[in-house]
Amino acid sequence: MYTLLRPHVLHRFMSLRHMSMAEPQSLVAKCGVRDPTAPAFLTFEDPRAFKVKSFWEIIRALGVFRLCSFPVLVNNCGKLMTFTKMVLGERAFSMVLRPSVYAQFVAGETEREIAESMQKMSSLGLRPMLAIPIEEDLGESTGERRYEDNLVAMLECIHMSHSKGWSENPMMQLKITALLSPELCVKLTSLLRTERYDLNLLVKAMEGEEITFSGLSESENTHFLCGLQRLNKIGEASANKVRVLVDAEYTYINPALSLITMAMMKKFNQQSAWIWNTYQCYLKESRNLLCDAIQTSVDQVFCLGIKLVRGAYMDKERNLAEKEKRTDPIHESWENTNESYNGCLEIMLNLICEKPEHYMIIVATHNEESVRRAVTRMLELGIDKDSSSVCFGQLLGMCDHVSLTLAQHGFSVYKSVPYGTVDNTLPYLVRRAQENRTVLQGIRKERDLLRQELCRRIREKITGAKKNTQK
Ligand SMILES: Cc1cc2nc3c(=O)[nH]c(=O)nc-3n(C[C@H](O)[C@H](O)[C@H](O)COP(=O)(O)OP(=O)(O)OC[C@H]3O[C@@H](n4cnc5c(N)ncnc54)[C@H](O)[C@@H]3O)c2cc1C
Repeated sequence: MYTLLRPHVLHRFMSLRHMSMAEPQSLVAKCGVRDPTAPAFLTFEDPRAFKVKSFWEIIRALGVFRLCSFPVLVNNCGKLMTFTKMVLGERAFSMVLRPSVYAQFVAGETEREIAESMQKMSSLGLRPMLAIPIEEDLGESTGERRYEDNLVAMLECIHMSHSKGWSENPMMQLKITALLSPELCVKLTSLLRTERYDLNLLVKAMEGEEITFSGLSESENTHFLCGLQRLNKIGEASANKVRVLVDAEYTYINPALSLITMAMMKKFNQQSAWIWNTYQCYLKESRNLLCDAIQTSVDQVFCLGIKLVRGAYMDKERNLAEKEKRTDPIHESWENTNESYNGCLEIMLNLICEKPEHYMIIVATHNEESVRRAVTRMLELGIDKDSSSVCFGQLLGMCDHVSLTLAQHGFSVYKSVPYGTVDNTLPYLVRRAQENRTVLQGIRKERDLLRQELCRRIREKITGAKKNTQK
């Protein structure tokens, strides 16, 4: 049995845990009500943000968002796509999907297609954060060979992210369950209720030492060592080049994912935050988890990078808790999740204000109010808008009016960019559509702005043509 990663946190971070409950003074506005002190561009109501989009891109976005506004289509998109593929055949299905939904949300398949999308993005002032759409859940484990293949794909992704010079300070997303079985993560999570694993030991295992972790069977231990070594390769290939943002997944595996991510941070984040962890603010325990991470980074002396999200797996988490007769881990309401998001954001911005070289955050949300709040607080706290300590993140093809406006005003904005074949990205698209269905269905404002930009261009064409005939 090995010693410990748990907090003796409470006293030191008590103030942080509570500090965030209070509203910052100038931000008394509740969600949805705009703070009067916020800069004017933060209304995100200027259709000129879309000036950089081509005519076809505007039409495509309008069409796709129109489809996404029908709950029945979003809720059943998996079944619908499978059915359409069966009726049309693979080729025709791909021909329909590629120029529409796929082009809206995926960068492409070949290196040339991806490079084109990335260059376009760079020209708009946006930074790509590549995400390989590999994900596994319980019962979908694919074996050591498949994890090795995934490692190769991840290393290729690191190489592409930094060698092509698409953006300053490149980032990519990583799902640990692409390299380590979810079943093992479940086992580790349950062991963590009673066991403590020393981060130094995980680091040694990452470097190839034959460690035996208590509580694991021989085969589980072997798989764990292989997984840690794979993650070590990711860390070594990315350090000083690409920031690797580890995704948060389900509560039944997140403690294991965080343990592993912390070990990676311990090894690779000595000078700067190259490995980041994700905190899901829909969890009742999110603030405590964040404070524990801050405390661990202080105790173990490493830099901390945080991806702050609301959380994607609400329905599944709730259903599971109900089935297992556990307390629901998710906040009771969207408002409570917002309060939790604001609280965590406030904690991080205050830390960044004090030690920008030590802490970093990506405000990963499509929520305009959260973005407004982050920007306003950055300005109040004097945090540089183009510093790498605070940046913003949205998914490719979503909320471009927010991303483009922020980028046009000099903030660092990343778009999470999946790439791959139609077949490989399909399950990813279906999951993202269902996770983001509230965002997709509420995307009316983006549609209105796109429509306004479209009308402006048509008017311009007509008046331009009239002027030419009058000459
Ligand atoms: C760059 C990027 C990376 C991401 N990485 C991850 C990741 O690693 N892990 C992950 O889980 N998600 C991730 N997400 C998805 C994210 O968690 C959200 O699902 C998605 O962004 C929608 O939240 P929002 O803040 O954008 O929008 P909003 O519309 O403001 O919020 C919707 C979210 O609020 C919460 N919510 C809605 N209704 C309720 C309710 N009744 N009670 C409590 N909470 C409620 C849910 O989390 C829902 O997704 C990522 C998103 C982005 C943009």
